[in-house]
Amino acid sequence: MDDEGLIERHRKQFPSWMSTFYERPLVPTRGSGNILTDASGESYLDFYSAVSANILGYDVPEIWEAVREQLRSGIVHLSPFYVSRRRVELAERLAELSGIPDAVVSFTVSGSEAVDLALFLATLYRRSSHVLALRHGFHGTTFGAMAVTGDRRWVGMGLSPFQVGYARGGYDRHHGPSAGLDDAAYVRACAQDLAELIGAGTADRVAALIVEPVQGVAGAAPLAPGLLEAYRPILQREGILLISDEVQTGWGRTGGHLWGYQHHDVVPDLLVFGKGLGGGFPIGGVVARREIMEAMTGMRVSATSGDPLPVAAALATLDHVQAHDLPANAGRLGSLLLDGLRERIFDTAIVADVRGRGLLLAIEFTGPDRDSAGSEIAVRVQEGCRRNGVLVGLGGAEEHCLSLMPPLTLTEAQAREGMEAIASAVREADR
Ligand code: PMP
Repeated sequence: MDDEGLIERHRKQFPSWMSTFYERPLVPTRGSGNILTDASGESYLDFYSAVSANILGYDVPEIWEAVREQLRSGIVHLSPFYVSRRRVELAERLAELSGIPDAVVSFTVSGSEAVDLALFLATLYRRSSHVLALRHGFHGTTFGAMAVTGDRRWVGMGLSPFQVGYARGGYDRHHGPSAGLDDAAYVRACAQDLAELIGAGTADRVAALIVEPVQGVAGAAPLAPGLLEAYRPILQREGILLISDEVQTGWGRTGGHLWGYQHHDVVPDLLVFGKGLGGGFPIGGVVARREIMEAMTGMRVSATSGDPLPVAAALATLDHVQAHDLPANAGRLGSLLLDGLRERIFDTAIVADVRGRGLLLAIEFTGPDRDSAGSEIAVRVQEGCRRNGVLVGLGGAEEHCLSLMPPLTLTEAQAREGMEAIASAVREADR
């Protein structure tokens, strides 16, 4: 196959902002387990998982079997106006697993659409279009989801269906937990900041605060311990809803728990899920307390939301996650990677931080003066990782981080192999 010709056609036919990784873009043609193989026959260990969507890796027999069984029925699409046994079963399991009392579920096609739905529900329930989000958060690419994305590249675009306030508490290079400040003092300062922000918004009361328990796109930045606990009474006093965006942090990625929010002693009012649940098939949705979900009237879901193939794949994926206790695997191998990488690369001049939780990890790079963001270095290391046989992503406000999010089915041998390959790519770039 002529990759050059194909890459040229790709560049010509898609807009310039549909950028690709790598100087010589990857053209994968086969996936198996946690390995992707390209057209030239080169194989790579996947530490990217399509931004953590492929939580079980590729070519998973249980998913294929579930999908084949559905295909044999001849029904690929089923209107939300009809009842489906599997759709009901999946909703029941998610409501139960969410930890939200008296929970009901609405499915969407993508995570962004699910974020929009959660915001829409919260603003309807609270009869206010004023919402809060954390700085540097990322919530998706639809109009509403983009509006609460605290990344400066989006905020600059200005258009928003909501009045949005951005609170401290997310990634904070100079004052956050990664800057080595005392967690308790930082949490107190953030809580005070939130109270002031809410005070400032009382003319138009605040509907909800949306958070990622670990900010994924910002470069695997976990919320400080105790942060959501400190926010909770402030929110409750005003009746403000807490939305946990678990599109990246769900399904055990953060290690030890199914949801990222469970690392804190709070339960959200709404939970947004997506990505990994479908084992590669597109599915997202919202779990919310019944009274909040009922704020909306009339059928307002996409025609292809909760379709039979993604639902069949999702049930098989959830079975796999639970049967193999993948949250525990993510916790164990996440610690191995975090500790191992810190040991191997913390002493280099280009590394500012190695952080994350479970298998949602990042390496942050600095520029030559240690004060600027090391965006070019991150790209160089990403290329180096590829040369060493490992695919990784880019993240961070200035794309100055390497994002590491292997499938949750990662084995210990693969974790060690990936760690050595990544560490040696960092050390090569440090020369
Ligand atoms: N929320 C978070 C936290 C995400 O990381 C993403 C995607 N990166 C989304 C929402 C949007 O999900 P999707 O790409 O499926 O629309």
